[in-house]
Amino acid sequence: MSAYEPNKLLNYNEDSIIGELKRVYINFFKDKQMTQREFNLHSRVSSYTVIRHFGTWDNALKKAEIPLSVKTRKARISLLEIKSDLERVKNINQGNYFSYLFYKQNGGKYDKKIKKRFGCVTWEQLLKKELGVSKAKRIIVLKQQRQFLSQDELFSEIKKVWNKFDRRPTYNEFRENSQIGISVFETRFGKWTIAIEQFCLSNKNYNSNPTGMSFKVTKELLIQDLQKIKETYNPEALKFKDYKKYGGNYTKMTFLKYFSSWKSALQSVNIKPGGEWNKSPEKELLFDELQRVWEHLGRQPLYKEWNELSKYSREVYDRKFGGWNKAIHAFIADREKPEEEIVINNSKTENEIPIDNVVEIVNPENSNIVETIIMKTPRSVPPKLRFRVFMRDHFTCQYCKRTKEEDGVKLQADHIIAYSNGGETVFENLITACWDCNIGKSNMTL
Ligand SMILES: [Zn+2]
Repeated sequence: MSAYEPNKLLNYNEDSIIGELKRVYINFFKDKQMTQREFNLHSRVSSYTVIRHFGTWDNALKKAEIPLSVKTRKARISLLEIKSDLERVKNINQGNYFSYLFYKQNGGKYDKKIKKRFGCVTWEQLLKKELGVSKAKRIIVLKQQRQFLSQDELFSEIKKVWNKFDRRPTYNEFRENSQIGISVFETRFGKWTIAIEQFCLSNKNYNSNPTGMSFKVTKELLIQDLQKIKETYNPEALKFKDYKKYGGNYTKMTFLKYFSSWKSALQSVNIKPGGEWNKSPEKELLFDELQRVWEHLGRQPLYKEWNELSKYSREVYDRKFGGWNKAIHAFIADREKPEEEIVINNSKTENEIPIDNVVEIVNPENSNIVETIIMKTPRSVPPKLRFRVFMRDHFTCQYCKRTKEEDGVKLQADHIIAYSNGGETVFENLITACWDCNIGKSNMTL
């Protein structure tokens, strides 16, 4: 029986990557061609990582002794053919610059990668170099109008873009969404940030929440923001999550840029860090929580969804185990370890035998005869053991093959030989079963 395999490799060294290439090839592609895309559907490492280690995909396959693709490469398309296709679309657009989207909409045969064939980095470069056309500048029309635009008109443009995002737009967002070129604002106000500050001053409903890169964040601003929350809510302790709930303006990344930790940011305004920042929970608690969420989903939880589902944040796991993947691997290693068996030993006196370990069997011939059996293991399945059984059975009901993840069935670890017939609660005698199948089965046995 193969051990349970987590979704990600723990080590991305050459050996483990080659091992993974071989595993996927043998299990899914034997004698067939294995492309990167297909590999990615089954692999615990992305083909991108493989290429980073081996230079090219073919090189990696060679190292892993996997036959290279049998298909011959498509004949290379000549530059002339590509250029004539571009010319064709240029003519459709009356000799003007056109976007890649326009190119595709008008039957463009090639994809964006062709720019590389011409040694260009961007689509604009390609068109300029090969067709001699460039993007029209939006400002040109406005140039004459510039001086006639009133401050109100400029502000109403800011308002329009602001409302679109429902917050202060960043420099780039504004540049891309404003009908009036951002340079008009820069000329008029000196700087875009000044323009937006001025706008906020004269429009009290718009508060200049910093949201983007255009805004210069300083340590003082971060402290002010914390101070504001402290004055308004006076919390005893403050988790980052709650900081956002109280309307905190900045991201955690921003704080970590200016402070060594969230804790030290809070120290600057004399607030205690809340909950998780104070203490790191015991490994066993973290594992139990991981198991709870895993069973709830019926599969391995993803890093990105973790914070929504768990009472401990990802950062707690990252800190304790040195990374999310390491946490998952440590967890699986722990759950795969067979538990010390709780075995009732014979020397115990009757009073010491747990009630959970006693089974009474009615003699099928004569219902007056009741036999009492003392079982070695308790009837209820300990959570760790249950998880091992689920892992072995891939979180799939072994009777009807339905899963928690896809079919939403509730799973449990079921005794193969019923406990009441002397079947012990041990790994070998347990099987993953959904609620429906388990009830069906016990009805039959009884
Ligand atoms: Zn079932």
